[in-house]
Parts: sequence; structure tokens; C-alpha cells
Amino acid sequence: MPDILFAAPALWPEYETVLAEALAEAGIDARLVTEATAPGEIDYIVYAPSAPLQDFTPFTRAKAVLSLWAGVERIVGNPTLTQALCRMVDPAMSEGMVEWVVGHTLRHHLGMDRQIVNPGHVWDPTCPPLARERPVTVLGMGALGAACAAALRALNFPVTGWSRSEKPGCLQGEAGLAQALSTASILVTLLPKTPETEGLLNADRLALMPRGAVILNPGRGALIDDDALLAALDRGHIGHATLDVFRVEPLPQGHPFWTHPRVTVTPHVAADTRPASAARVIAENIRRGEAGEPFLHLVDRKRGY
Ligand code: NAP
Repeated sequence: MPDILFAAPALWPEYETVLAEALAEAGIDARLVTEATAPGEIDYIVYAPSAPLQDFTPFTRAKAVLSLWAGVERIVGNPTLTQALCRMVDPAMSEGMVEWVVGHTLRHHLGMDRQIVNPGHVWDPTCPPLARERPVTVLGMGALGAACAAALRALNFPVTGWSRSEKPGCLQGEAGLAQALSTASILVTLLPKTPETEGLLNADRLALMPRGAVILNPGRGALIDDDALLAALDRGHIGHATLDVFRVEPLPQGHPFWTHPRVTVTPHVAADTRPASAARVIAENIRRGEAGEPFLHLVDRKRGY
């Protein structure tokens, strides 16, 4: 019977029932604990970045650390972590991200703000172009980026993707990035935060985008150079930025993003981990661990995601 440490105490009330149910569904008879009185006896650790647990050294028997978060930048470099690290790929999280990205894409594509906030009651019959005439670029075509790209393509948006590895409809490398940015009427950033992606959208790369382009960032705040973005927004080169994630969260009061007329702030709500479906992902990985099968969603520690 495996011992599972649920190391995110603040989340326990949401997971206590659904995790027990998911383990039972997966045929796992496990002991679930929220405190490791005997760390050397723990087989799996369920983890969230808010967890007080930072030293994994005493967990000598643990086969895996199972993250409840998709982004693992706060744990991937932990030198005490020698166990396998699996990140969260949750179908309900993908659904949430698709809804946020499609919703904000349509807001900008249709120019909805002009009608929603129209204090002068201006009758402006300008029609937006069709989606087929509005190129969208998605940086990061992993679990979330690919789901968003598929949903946008289903609405007829021509979508260009950019990823590290080759995949259909996806560009790679610096030249591919330049091409993907230069055609992006709307840019969606769904890259993980790694040393390679930090500050990726700097002044030079923002300058490659067409004038008036819109940026949607539900990936990580660190992907964008804030000062360069503010300067590009001030010039009108970037028409609008809808930002869900920030270098410091909550976004500090007084940060210029709060009041900039071309910025929309959403408070890291694009895609939450949903306990019921996430518990099934955790349970499936524990089933695999117990059956000696490879874990799903293993993080490549060298790449950092
Ligand atoms: P994922 O499946 O690991 O996908 C990451 C994508 O980024 C992959 O396509 C990967 O390329 C690409 N990539 C990584 N480094 C790259 C580089 N240096 N150059 C080019 N492409 C690179 O991750 P995911 O599940 O889609 O999640 C993406 C991110 O979304 C997470 O890391 C997290 O930061 C963020 N997120 C935000 C929220 C929210 O509520 N705002 C919720 C969940 C996740 P390959 O395909 O070639 O590996």
C-alpha cells in the first residue's frame, strides 16, 4: 500500500474527497497523509508551489513528486529534488485556458470595447474583419498552446505556432520566431518560464510585431520585458496587452499595468487546476508508478519544463 504525502495543506479541503475517490477508481489502496512524520516511508508527494516543503532529501523512498501546477519553475531547480517530477496536464485546465484565450481573442478581434464602453453614444458601423483575415500566433504549442490553437483554428483564425521541437504548423528557432511575430495580429504566449524564455518578448522582438498588434499573456509574467512592453504600448506599436500573469503576483498596487489604458489585468485566473480532474491525473500517475509503467507528464529537468 503506497503512502502519499499531500504536501499542499491549504488545498487539502478541496482534494481530500476527490483524491480518495480518484485513487479508488484507479484501483489504488493508499494511505493519504498531510504531514510526513516518517518521510522515509513516503512513496509519492503531491506538491504545489505554496507548499512549505522545500527539502526533499529525507524522502528517500519517494518515486515521484506530482505537481498540481502546470508551470514548475519554482521547483524544477530545487537541488534537493532527486525524485522524478511530473507536472499537471489537466483536461479541465486546458478547457479553462481555451475559454480564456478564445474569449480575449474575440474581444480584440471584434473590437467589443468600442461598443461596451461608448460614453459618447457614437454610431460607428465599422465592421471587423473575418477571423480568417486575423492571423494569430501562439508561442508555445504544448498541452495548453496546442489546445488554444486548435480552438482558434476551428473559428477560422489562421494560427501560426512556435515551439522548440518540430511539429506540424509550427515554426522553430530565432528565424521562426521572427516570422511568427511579424505576422501576429494577436499573439498568445503560452511558454513555460525557463532561462531560455525569460524576457523573450524584449524591445527588439516587440518591434517585429505589426503596429497595433494585441498580446495575450496567460503563460508567465517573466516572458515579457515589462518596460519594453510599456514603451511599445505608449507608442501605440502594441495596441493592447491582456495580461494574466506577472513577475510579482499579486500585481503590486501602483504598478503601471493597473492604470495603463492599453492594458487589461486579469488576476492569474486563465486556467486553474480543477481538483476533480487533477486528482484523476495524480491517481493515474500513482497507478503507473505502482505498476512499474512510465510516468505521464515528466518534467525534463535540463530543459526546465
Ligand atoms: P507544455 O506542454 O510544457 O508546453 C510548453 C511549450 O513551450 C512547448 O510547445 C515547448 O516546445 C515550448 N517551449 C518551451 N521552451 C521553448 C523555447 N525555448 N523555445 C521554443 N519553444 C519552447 O506546457 P503547457 O502545459 O502548455 O503550459 C504552458 C505554460 O502555461 C506553463 O508553463 C505555465 O507557465 C502557464 N500556465 C498558466 C496558467 C494560468 O492560469 N495563467 C495555467 C496553467 C499554465 P516543445 O513542444 O518543443 O517542447
